[in-house]
Amino acid sequence: MSSTPKIIPLADVRTAQLSARDAFARAAASGDGAHGARPVDTRNRPLSDLRISVTDRCNFRCVYCMPKDVFGRDYPFLPHDELLSFEEIARIARIFVGLGVHKIRLTGGEPLLRKRLEHLVELLAAIPGIDLTLTTNGALLARKARALHDAGLKRVTVSLDALDDATFRAMNDVDFPVARVLEGIDAAHAAGLAPIKINAVIKRGMNEAAVLPLARYFKDSGHIVRFIEYMDVGHTNGWRMDDVVPAAEIIRTIDAELPLEAIERNYSGEVAERWRFRDGGGEIGVIASVTQAFCRDCTRARLSTDGKIFTCLFATEGYDVRALLRGDYRDAQIENAIAAIWRQRADRYSEIRTANTVRAAKVEMSYIGG
Ligand code: SAM
Ligand code: SF4
Ligand code: SF4
Repeated sequence: MSSTPKIIPLADVRTAQLSARDAFARAAASGDGAHGARPVDTRNRPLSDLRISVTDRCNFRCVYCMPKDVFGRDYPFLPHDELLSFEEIARIARIFVGLGVHKIRLTGGEPLLRKRLEHLVELLAAIPGIDLTLTTNGALLARKARALHDAGLKRVTVSLDALDDATFRAMNDVDFPVARVLEGIDAAHAAGLAPIKINAVIKRGMNEAAVLPLARYFKDSGHIVRFIEYMDVGHTNGWRMDDVVPAAEIIRTIDAELPLEAIERNYSGEVAERWRFRDGGGEIGVIASVTQAFCRDCTRARLSTDGKIFTCLFATEGYDVRALLRGDYRDAQIENAIAAIWRQRADRYSEIRTANTVRAAKVEMSYIGG
């Protein structure tokens, strides 16, 4: 993004990226496609998930994601012609599916701010064999749940960091009331979007007290709350290790009142560690991206709002697939280029996080897609 300050480059990461960039360009120039081959990266990880950021804008200013002092009135959000069109997104999604992707998540920024998002849902839902979902802050969900469902969306994840109104308003930092998000969750349920997952980022000193009330509120509801460790995404949120509430502490807190037992992950590569209430009241999850990195099984690529592919949430640079989409390139060439970067992928940021990596000029989560 244009406002990225110059910060210490990670020399080894850069060298790898340069050769991957080379491979990307060379593969795009070659006429051949990947012919249905499913690429694996240098750590033997397949490509199976794609997160698509449909807008870098948001109506919230969550303190851990888009702090107000950085994302203010003058922030240079992308102009409309820089955004991928829905048709471009659908084309690239089909190409990714040819390479092995079977799960697509629409995200952002706040995806429900993108006009006529239902139309994109319709285009993506028509691709055979994909599990299509969306992550939202829930502010506009009460209004849009039905249309999204009717367009083919199956399920939804809603971010909700506290039930206490004052804490929630302080976390979103735009004074948005929690009741409206709860209405959105109810509307999603009524529209048949299920199961609903609730994402709660826990930041020390801000909302640790929200853990138990969230667990109590959603127990027996069929919805699954996932508590997420606060991460050093981007470079604007002023992250410190001291602000992270470890997943193990979250589990201890809940287990003390509502006894839990660990259960198997649904599939290899699932980011949440699953726990169920011993009394049969459903399950919760914890996403321990800081204290128990799960890079080993990471099969996710991200597509930014302006059409760059990122192979890690903590990447500093992406690959410009929009130039290929808008150039005279055939699907087979684009497929080849994506396969080439995936084969060179070596990302494992969370496993090698240090004080220096935290300061790197990583792209913002709202742009790359959470
Ligand atoms: N605006 C939508 C929302 O909030 O659900 C979608 C985009 S948001 C970037 C996607 C997810 O990333 C949200 O669940 C949010 O809580 C999470 N997130 C954002 N910043 C984070 C951080 N610093 N650490 C951990 N999770 C974060
Ligand atoms: Fe917006 Fe989602 Fe980031 Fe909050 S977490 S600022 S809702 S993009
Ligand atoms: Fe995947 Fe990068 Fe996160 Fe590791 S740090 S789990 S490679 S996105």
